Formats: sequence, C-alpha cells, structure tokens
Amino acid sequence: MDGIDTDEVVYITTLVEKNCPVCRSQRIGGSNWDGSVNHMLKTHGWKLLHVGSDWSDDYAGKTISHTVAVLARQ
Ligand SMILES: [Zn+2]
Repeated sequence: MDGIDTDEVVYITTLVEKNCPVCRSQRIGGSNWDGSVNHMLKTHGWKLLHVGSDWSDDYAGKTISHTVAVLARQ
C-alpha cells in the first residue's frame, strides 16, 4: 500500500499494522488505531495533521473503507 511515510510523517491506518517509526517496539495501526494515535501523541509528542476515511481495494477487488490519521514530528 502507498503511504506518505518519511522520517517526519507517519500514516496510521486501520488497514495496516507496522512498527512505530520512532521506538520500533510498538505496533501501530490495525485494530489498535486509537491507541496508536495516542501513542504517537502522548509518548512521542507528535502532532495530528489529519484524520479521515480512505478507501482501498482488498485482495478480492472489493472496496473497503478504513480510517487514517496523519501525524508529524514537531
Ligand atoms: Zn513509539
């Protein structure tokens, strides 16, 4: 999946789980989306740039919606 991740920006989606770009010990995204956003805000002090919905095609070609948050290092 295409993200816009750099060292300064993280893209958290309910669709994909990955390692936190800062501490690398915490999984962010997936079913723990709320906790992931809180982790970036409270543990690392990043700021929230955007929250919204996005749509992707799953492996079967069905369109599914997911929630995304974009946070930036400050
Ligand atoms: Zn972290």
